Amino acid sequence: MTTKTVESADLVGAFPVCKNCGQSTVMRDAWAVWSLASRDWTLGSVFDQIWCETCGGETQIEWKIDKEFRLKRIKRLNDALRRGQVERGSIVVTQGVQAKGRAFLEQAVKAVAEFDTFTEDNDPHGEHDFGAFEIDGDKLFWKIDPYDLDMQCLSPDVANPCVTHRVLTIMLAAEY
Ligand SMILES: [Zn+2]
Repeated sequence: MTTKTVESADLVGAFPVCKNCGQSTVMRDAWAVWSLASRDWTLGSVFDQIWCETCGGETQIEWKIDKEFRLKRIKRLNDALRRGQVERGSIVVTQGVQAKGRAFLEQAVKAVAEFDTFTEDNDPHGEHDFGAFEIDGDKLFWKIDPYDLDMQCLSPDVANPCVTHRVLTIMLAAEY
């Protein structure tokens, strides 16, 4: 499966820094317009000129990514999906789990929602996208895959819930 590429400026967690000094002390020229609704001057047009306070002169920007911010967002979205609180998401239960009957399935869904024993081993990237658990001696896994909204490609930005359809799969370990 391929991923559509997104400009880094459009990724969640992106922020601009000065090309010369690398600091985020950059400002753009802009016009403010009067807003009747907020009774204040609000941002109108933004121009190309960029000023760096640290350099004390005009500069250009490049984009950096706040990885910690992104990770927190991804973790929160994955946790929300397990609890049924994500707008764009679905849950897939494998045939093996379904064959165990309704009570088993309900237990499994509850266990996935409540799962919180994340370790370096089962969650090396800290994204909360995988877990292993047991019900009545049966070993199960759950995993989360982030697709784009058409479900044709992987999500262009897994930290952005507007462009991501998350799929939670609950399966028997034997089916992995
Ligand atoms: Zn600078």
